[in-house]
Amino acid sequence: GSGRALSPVRIGSLQLRHRIVMGSMHLNLEQLDDGGAALAQFYRERADGGADLIVTGGAAVSRTGAGGPGYTLINEPGCAAALSRTVDAVHAAGGHLALQLFHAGRYAFEQTYGLRPVAPSAVYSGLSRCEPAALTAAQIEQTIADFAAGAGRARGLGFDAVEIMGSEGYLLNQFASPLTNLRRDEWGGDAVRRRRFPVAVLRAVRAAVGAGFPIIVRTSGTDLVDGSSTDAELDALAVEFACGGADALNIGIGWHESTVPTVQSLVPHGHWLPMARRIKRALLAAGLATPVIGSNRLNSLPQAEAALAAGDLDLVSMARPFLADPAIIATSRAGRLPLVNTCIGCNEACLDRALGTEPVSCLVNPRAGHELEFPTAPAAGRAPAGPAVAVAGAGPAGMQAAATLAAAGLAVDLYEAAGGIGGQFRLAGRVPGKEDFLETIRYFEHRLVDLGVRVLTDHPADAAGLAGYAHVVVGTGVLPRRVRLPGTGLVHVLDYRQAFADPAGVGPRVAVIGAGGIAVDLAHLLAADAPRQITIMRRGGRVGEGIGPTTRWAVLQQLRAAGVRMLTGVSYRRITPEGVEITRTDGEAGLVAADTVILAAGQEPATGLAAGLAAAGTAHTVVGGALDTEGLNAVRAFDQGLRAGTAI
Ligand code: SF4
Repeated sequence: GSGRALSPVRIGSLQLRHRIVMGSMHLNLEQLDDGGAALAQFYRERADGGADLIVTGGAAVSRTGAGGPGYTLINEPGCAAALSRTVDAVHAAGGHLALQLFHAGRYAFEQTYGLRPVAPSAVYSGLSRCEPAALTAAQIEQTIADFAAGAGRARGLGFDAVEIMGSEGYLLNQFASPLTNLRRDEWGGDAVRRRRFPVAVLRAVRAAVGAGFPIIVRTSGTDLVDGSSTDAELDALAVEFACGGADALNIGIGWHESTVPTVQSLVPHGHWLPMARRIKRALLAAGLATPVIGSNRLNSLPQAEAALAAGDLDLVSMARPFLADPAIIATSRAGRLPLVNTCIGCNEACLDRALGTEPVSCLVNPRAGHELEFPTAPAAGRAPAGPAVAVAGAGPAGMQAAATLAAAGLAVDLYEAAGGIGGQFRLAGRVPGKEDFLETIRYFEHRLVDLGVRVLTDHPADAAGLAGYAHVVVGTGVLPRRVRLPGTGLVHVLDYRQAFADPAGVGPRVAVIGAGGIAVDLAHLLAADAPRQITIMRRGGRVGEGIGPTTRWAVLQQLRAAGVRMLTGVSYRRITPEGVEITRTDGEAGLVAADTVILAAGQEPATGLAAGLAAAGTAHTVVGGALDTEGLNAVRAFDQGLRAGTAI
């Protein structure tokens, strides 16, 4: 049972039912030309599912401050209809909505509106790949006024609170840091003056919304960039915010330019909470009782409970877990934890998309961001208990298809040749830092039973056995791609599935043919399993091609730290008992010495069953890897499972 996490708390005048805040996420639904319909439904379902305080994605206080073309522009009249519709939807579900006031500063992109980004000083931004213009004194006053105007508009639109974005390396954070604030006027020069702009923004916002309207400030617990603000300086800033009228402080971690991973699955759960606790202690030492919200890498109610149990934090913020399961609070509160669809920290459908313009979704919940397209209630006209359909293969696409069909009222038999469901997720779950992939399997195991799906494991399906079904969804997945090279039949050559299944059977010197996502995962697994000399290699492309932009750098950094050798531009000559003979693009020939050679050079669709069904004239739909492996990833597999399950 949950104790403190689900106990009431106040943020200023705002009375909340529990202590879990749904944190800000940019969705790329904000600027759709639909009057706010998709945005409102997205938040409505989260409020229906038990979210109480929800913080919107960043709403830019000016075009110059927008993080991209999909950002709400709070000070322009065009956003009002969508926002008030969203506020109404959340209120109708009993929730509260805070608008996040945002200015990207030097993290803005000139191409968004053709405006040069601005910042305290002209310090090049590696993220935006540009040198911003230093704000003039008059522009600083205008920017403060923009924040105040945005806050006033939010209040007028019916929002319950505002959150001022002051962390993650955005504009307020840039003013506070000696790295990006090189000014010698009243807005910079020493730590005290560097704090003036962030605090001036807060005071102006307070003046605009009046006493009693809740203001949250998201402030940095640590910048994770060498030479930036010290802990003592960040503590002092937090104290000034609390004295300046903030009703709660939400502690952000790390700049977007930082090379320290903060939100990737390889970061342990709760890893950054000590930063929020440190700020809480600094506030208490100053005699301030302002509530502090901790965040980053929490993905379940039990973790939230553990974070809050000691009483040295007041609330926690979780964001992505609400994409993965809109009802995480209600389902957990009801004691049905096995039925929570857990965020696995992959970033593939959320953060990676938030960087661009495609609407954000969720790998393990492809409905997210598409709530209107896929209503939860069975479509009218669909038989509540229609003829039985079969799903062959219980990997990502098959699990999702089976759950979708059963939720629509169809009788579903799910066939899986292996001893358990999950497909390639079973392999991923063995990789250090990807243990949460097993949570997805746990969720579907319980969800499928809950929906009445007959799950038949150890049960390979063939076309003859499926002939009696009204329809078959074929999710038979992939086979390792055949490698045509002399020596692949030697005893020390394994395919990647064998190596995942039995890492102990892999020798101390390993050569992996292939360096895509699976080879990278395998290298992590083998490096963590025992000390090994590991080489991963490929002909063309990049190491870890296909891994999303917010994750790939962190994963490769970890591989380098583990001493894994990564080679590209490799031509293979043959495999010998000594290893793999290769030629590099520079013409240099050599031997990659290895006790074990592993083939991980991509995948091919497993097409046998689909061909058999076609020959027998059985109606079927092919999904996931069985359909196409070109550019295949788990996001697409789950999405195809949902679409197939909806279309039948
Ligand atoms: Fe979590 Fe991945 Fe879904 Fe994002 S896409 S919410 S990281 S499971």
